[in-house]
Amino acid sequence: MEDCIFCKIIKKEVPATVVFETDRVLAFMDIKPINPGHVLVIPKKHSEFISSMSEEDLKEIMSIGAKVDSALRKSGIKCSGVSFFLADGVDAGQEVPHVHLHVIPRFEEDGFGFKFPSGYETMPERSELVELSEKIKKVI
Ligand code: 5GP
Ligand code: ZN
Repeated sequence: MEDCIFCKIIKKEVPATVVFETDRVLAFMDIKPINPGHVLVIPKKHSEFISSMSEEDLKEIMSIGAKVDSALRKSGIKCSGVSFFLADGVDAGQEVPHVHLHVIPRFEEDGFGFKFPSGYETMPERSELVELSEKIKKVI
């Protein structure tokens, strides 16, 4: 896609610091890392949302993500845990409209974390979970 910054990185029109590459997938350093060693794993074929990606690309994103996870733990970079994050849609926090899996090195008290909505501590009734699961099951 013409205006997509990640497509430009794939086409080498914009520089990026690549850590791993296959025919389908590119893994490169995030320009604004949450923690040092933060890597993005993207499909080479442009897709804004996960739902329009091929099964093969989806599998490869995850397997390369796992490879980067293992490498981070062995690299000497401060990393005693790894967070995977993928924002699918603007309201989920997606800023770049080209699917990207964040692979983020984590360590104790690194200051990063999710913010939970108020009421999160209250567990819903089982009936509510069942009702929600039925809605999902109908269309899965
Ligand atoms: P999102 O908020 O969409 O989940 O994450 C987008 C990520 O892409 C951010 O972490 C941001 O730092 C990274 N990013 C945006 N533009 C560039 C770029 O030109 N090069 C690199 N390496 N990362 C980028
Ligand atoms: Zn793109």
